[in-house]
Amino acid sequence: MTETVLPSPPRVGMVSLGCPKNLVDSERILTKLRADGYAMSPDYAGADVVLVNTCGFLDSAKEESLEAIGEAIAENGRVIVTGCMGDEAAAIRARFPQVLAISGAHQYESVVGAVHEAAPVPPSPFLDLVPERDLKLTPRHYSYLKISEGCNHRCSFCIIPSIRGDLVSRRPDAILREAEKLVAAGTRELLVISQDTSAYGIDIRNEPRLWQGREVRPHMTDLARELGRIAPWVRLHYVYPYPHVDQVVPLMAEGLVLPYLDIPFQHAAPNVLRAMKRPANEAKVLERLRGWRAICPDIAIRSSFVVGFPGETEADFEYLLDWLDEAQLDRVGAFRFEPVAGAPANALPDPVPEEIKEERYARLMERTAAISAAKLQAKIGRTLEVIIDAVDAESGGATGRSQADAPEIDGEVQLRDAGHLSVGDIVAVEVEDADEHDLYGVPVGSAR
Ligand code: SF4
Repeated sequence: MTETVLPSPPRVGMVSLGCPKNLVDSERILTKLRADGYAMSPDYAGADVVLVNTCGFLDSAKEESLEAIGEAIAENGRVIVTGCMGDEAAAIRARFPQVLAISGAHQYESVVGAVHEAAPVPPSPFLDLVPERDLKLTPRHYSYLKISEGCNHRCSFCIIPSIRGDLVSRRPDAILREAEKLVAAGTRELLVISQDTSAYGIDIRNEPRLWQGREVRPHMTDLARELGRIAPWVRLHYVYPYPHVDQVVPLMAEGLVLPYLDIPFQHAAPNVLRAMKRPANEAKVLERLRGWRAICPDIAIRSSFVVGFPGETEADFEYLLDWLDEAQLDRVGAFRFEPVAGAPANALPDPVPEEIKEERYARLMERTAAISAAKLQAKIGRTLEVIIDAVDAESGGATGRSQADAPEIDGEVQLRDAGHLSVGDIVAVEVEDADEHDLYGVPVGSAR
């Protein structure tokens, strides 16, 4: 019997820029294209069409996006642009008139439609099969899980609400179903993302949905508890310190959710927070941090800060440094303020000169690195749970992350005598040494 030989499917290349949220969008687009019968190309040369998923958050990100479009055109020539910068189609067209199609963030239908037009799939019932699981750009053992789109806040330095709109939460049962599929496909760590995870569900009035015979509210606490039953590790990103976050911390103490909170404080000085129009005010935050640590002593707090925001005085900056001394955050990222076209903060008076921004940035990094180093030193001699990200069988070493380390943004744990481990293993590790950002240790047994 002769076999049916399918024509080769068209191949799509993808360049994904920007934040983890954009990466999730790229995964969705690729999943849909795969379901429609497309194959993926790891390089420009093998692609029938190249998708560039852009970021338009900062002017520097826009420039990076334009460079990526230029490179794709030079290397392949057939290019479709999507993502945040797609909202500035005129600027893209002016520089690259040969771009085949442009769509904005989350316009999945139109970007997928543009791919169909540029590189049609030969008709075949075999190619209509939906894959068992999402095609993922992140390694199999960890996955980003987006729980909502958009944001109801209006921080003055941010253009995300104008690009992505107000908060739209996904149904909890849909999120939990996706989480189950991801775990069935090998995910051991779920990274919950959104613009404001603590606001999840307020737009759908926290209306419960049935999940496995029980009601689950679209609320951060309920969702975190259910996710904790599905995946070994669940990590919460982009949480604001609202009072109801207190209810999640006991789940961390119980081991259902990782004792980790990524809270973008951005500043501590009341004047600056007011000018930034930040959603949570600083007054009770230190108290709240103390309360969380009393319930869950191992909780790791990660945050990011902006220095040199318009109107930030030396006194404001020193207030921030003192606040950081008190807060003793585990991980800190910092940015020098950069005006983004369309952001209300650009109109604020008293811009901070570049050299002062640089100087404050260096002081902040020095202060927070010292705090991080002291916290890591205190872990020497302890046994921690570590997830394995990479194994080097030749050297017998492995690289992993503790519960306090999110992928790509936090530190690592370097392991010796670990060549027998596999990526995705969660093991007990005795910590032998530490530096400013990373830990060093040896596996002493399996943890989960
Ligand atoms: S919370 Fe503020 S910074 Fe974050 S997305 Fe919303 S408006 Fe932007």
